[in-house]
Amino acid sequence: MHCDILSLFPEVFEPYVKSSILGRAQSKGLLSLTLHNIRQYSQNKHLQVDDVSYGGGPGMVLKPEPIFRAVRAIAREQKSKRVILTTPQGQPFNQQLAQELAAEKYLLIICGRYEGVDERVAQELVTDEISIGDYVLTGGELPALVILDAITRLIPGVLGDETSAARDSFSEALLDYPHYTRPADYEGVHVPQVLLSGNHEQIRRWRRYQALKRTYQRRPELLKRLKLSDEDRELLTQIMGVNDRQVNI
Ligand code: SAM
Repeated sequence: MHCDILSLFPEVFEPYVKSSILGRAQSKGLLSLTLHNIRQYSQNKHLQVDDVSYGGGPGMVLKPEPIFRAVRAIAREQKSKRVILTTPQGQPFNQQLAQELAAEKYLLIICGRYEGVDERVAQELVTDEISIGDYVLTGGELPALVILDAITRLIPGVLGDETSAARDSFSEALLDYPHYTRPADYEGVHVPQVLLSGNHEQIRRWRRYQALKRTYQRRPELLKRLKLSDEDRELLTQIMGVNDRQVNI
């Protein structure tokens, strides 16, 4: 996948995109990134990219011309079909949308600032307006990194088998089961015995139970999307019918 990012602060991406999974995806040739400064596309002699809001009121708005120029130039080179605008007013970002976007060859992400971006950008250029949550950040750089990170994990070959995304929360409308590592006894708090048993079938069943229980307790609305097996139904009946502390599976 190739991703172009348009931002007023491209330098803030550098350390994050060079490290860990994003860095590895690029060295494996599975992801390439180009960071563009919106200011480069301004033809104003002061490289101005923002202006006051028509109708009055505080705050500046990102002007349309530099963004139109940038998107048209980049889209011509890369044939990007998905042009994403980060905005708190957009479609809520989730794992399903990340999966859909991970199948694309080219993405272009526009990072807003100030009061946002002139509405004609969304109207004429953007295919997806995406929000990363119901709160307002200062700019679209963190949302762009969130989106890019979530997508990159899902590009085939990026994660090794040992860190497969298939079991992660939300990949199957379930939260992940709890994880433990050594030591087995930390300050008197013990790892559940079943995980030390070496019995793979019991471990699998315990993990399924825990994933269902967490989802039921924390995000019950997700369960409506889950295709329940006979075993899931049996486990959910136990979860719903038994006080948590009495459960011993
Ligand atoms: N006035 C805008 C509003 O109330 O909808 C908020 C503008 S915000 C201060 C500046 C930029 O940050 C936005 O244009 C967008 O690119 C980005 N941004 C802020 N919060 C976001 C969120 N929750 N999801 C995605 N992008 C966000």
